[in-house]
Amino acid sequence: MLHLKNIKKMLNNSMEGTNKLRMYEEDTPQYHLYKEMHENQTYDFVVSKRKEYGPCWKTKMTINKALSLLDDYIDPSDPDLDVPNSIHAYQTAERIRRKFPEDKEFQIIGLIHDVGKVLFSFGEPSWAVVGDTYVLGCEFPKTIVYYDTLKGSPEYEKYDKLGLYKPRCGLDNLMISYGHDEYLYNVLKKNRNHFLSDKYLDVIRYHSFYPWHTEGEYSHFMNKKDEDTLKNVLEFNKFDLYSKEDDILIDKHVKSYYEDILNEYFFGELSW
Ligand code: FE
Ligand code: FE
Repeated sequence: MLHLKNIKKMLNNSMEGTNKLRMYEEDTPQYHLYKEMHENQTYDFVVSKRKEYGPCWKTKMTINKALSLLDDYIDPSDPDLDVPNSIHAYQTAERIRRKFPEDKEFQIIGLIHDVGKVLFSFGEPSWAVVGDTYVLGCEFPKTIVYYDTLKGSPEYEKYDKLGLYKPRCGLDNLMISYGHDEYLYNVLKKNRNHFLSDKYLDVIRYHSFYPWHTEGEYSHFMNKKDEDTLKNVLEFNKFDLYSKEDDILIDKHVKSYYEDILNEYFFGELSW
């Protein structure tokens, strides 16, 4: 059966160079997901989820195990993906490997950037796991995807442009809608049995923050470090986004390459 997504994908493929990724239409699964997200993510909700997951005492597992859980997860927020998220993980990593064959750390970031979606295995609803993120506690910029559904938020028009924050306070001080970015960032920050650098942990933390990295919103909150993070996130985003168009064979050789480099960068189980 031909799904709408597949038809779109075929159209995309035939229109090389004029990309039509990230097309958001009404009355689609994406619309309903964002509507729920916009109605339910509040400032207090984000605070409560950060508190709940902050200590990482849900479970213990290796990064490999967490990655394999994504075999069972298809991201409902993504209009361009209808394959399990683990495929997207390998596709992103492989696209990075083709361009940077020596940079194993960057390849690993491609591979694991969405592993925070294991939140679904703790029973979290998709609107608290996936989708573009935005700031709570200040005005909602109009460029947020499905902005109109934010009118159903209890915090719609509650704050002005700065809201609860100070100018140049830094992204790290913002309460951003909760999901797989913040969750995995916290897991990697709290567990020290890996060799990933802070620069890449920030890429993971902000990779879904499209209103900021692609629409140019929230620049009045940025500090010096955030300018570097923006460059790094944009560099990463090319691989995350366009790998969805790749037809890459994920065979046992590819899998064992990544298993080997994961073993170089991680040792033992992580607390989640
Ligand atoms: Fe993601
Ligand atoms: Fe991704």
